[in-house]
Amino acid sequence: HVYTDAEVHALVEQENVRFLRLMFTDLFGSMKSVDLPISQLDKLLANRVMFDGSSIDGFVRIEESDMYLHPEMSTWMISPWGAEHGKVAQVICSVYKTDGEPFMGDPRNNLKRVLKQMEEAGFTAFNIGPEPEFFLFETDEKGEPTLQVNDQENYFDLSPADRGEDCRRDIVLALEKLGFDVEAAHHEVAPGQHEVDFKYSDALEAADNIQIFKLVVKNIAKQYGFHATFMPKPLSGINGSGMHMNMSLFNQDGNTFYDENDALQLSQTAYHFLAGVMDHARSVTAISNPIVNSYKRLVPGYEAPVYVAWSAHNRSPMVRVPSERGMGTRLELRSVDPAANPYLAIATILAAGLDGLKRELTPAPSVDENIYHMTEEERIKREIKTLPDTLHNALKSLATDEVIKEALGDHLYKNFMEAKTVEYDSYRQAVSRWEQNRYMSNY
Ligand code: GLU
Ligand code: MG
Ligand code: MG
Repeated sequence: HVYTDAEVHALVEQENVRFLRLMFTDLFGSMKSVDLPISQLDKLLANRVMFDGSSIDGFVRIEESDMYLHPEMSTWMISPWGAEHGKVAQVICSVYKTDGEPFMGDPRNNLKRVLKQMEEAGFTAFNIGPEPEFFLFETDEKGEPTLQVNDQENYFDLSPADRGEDCRRDIVLALEKLGFDVEAAHHEVAPGQHEVDFKYSDALEAADNIQIFKLVVKNIAKQYGFHATFMPKPLSGINGSGMHMNMSLFNQDGNTFYDENDALQLSQTAYHFLAGVMDHARSVTAISNPIVNSYKRLVPGYEAPVYVAWSAHNRSPMVRVPSERGMGTRLELRSVDPAANPYLAIATILAAGLDGLKRELTPAPSVDENIYHMTEEERIKREIKTLPDTLHNALKSLATDEVIKEALGDHLYKNFMEAKTVEYDSYRQAVSRWEQNRYMSNY
């Protein structure tokens, strides 16, 4: 629902809203916000709120730093917390330049651009149902995160309620207040690990929802004395956190991935899309798994994918086809992790799929047996590539992939590449505890 100016004024009056929080996402997926007193409401509604873009990572240089925030009135909501100093209304904004053009360093504007290409290809919506996972860690006296989780529970465990569970329940309640359609919330495999799934929506709304979701999780966790983290692999030796993406492509007639006559009831469109996603998988990984730590999750043994493969029968490959058909037919991409900037991740996945359609690619046959039990020769024979094993190798793939670079646009690509190269170099130069333990006395 797109709120009109009149509706907003009425709501502000009714709920006695005192502050406005304008939110947008930087290159790295962090939410930035600008707070204004409610007296600035008319200025906001007239798209006249300015901010300094040079203070935002990956945005602009100092000499071109004036930018405007245009509120996306479908995302307007009254914040369910922090009302003690007066209620806060929050809205996600798009970033515009002084010449009135959308700023292409804004990941949200870029996703809109790629969605337009999707429409030109004859589709009406790229639906995304995300499955974000996260950990709750105890905090110390200073409120800093510790490495202590509060429970020893497992997947779907039912046990006397604990703080972690209460916290997760409050997260669900807060999300529902914000209009989220929460479909499931459960304890994950690792101690202290949780998952909350919400209903699919069109790409832009899904990305907005992921951003709001993270904010809600972090805020509610804090109220419980926890630190919530979306870091992909906070502890070695146990499962990391993924953000599986369920995806389907719709046109006026409905879900284009469904075909009742196919053996798996998947359409040619679904197969082409799948083939495109697999073809570009290595370079998309730079975006869907964007930090050094992401690659500590993509290892054997912890339910995260390592190989570029798909299956309708096996849960563990990179792409799974969940059993639902008809309108619910979808592909589940399991490589994505919650450190990904959702706007960029969705834009590149969509571009990969659309490229598969354009080139009418056919996916390699599905792999229904355990890939980890295959020899390398077997894998090569069956055309099973591996996902990149480091951020460095993912970036190398990205640098050679014109389709995925185009899906980011010049500005985002250049800034992303630059920043991530620096990030990887810094990691490469740091001497870790592991190395000291392993080598200090041996050499
Ligand atoms: N936590 C697993 C991962 O790293 C996924 C577990 C699941 O299948 O939900 O992707
Ligand atoms: Mg899960
Ligand atoms: Mg899943």
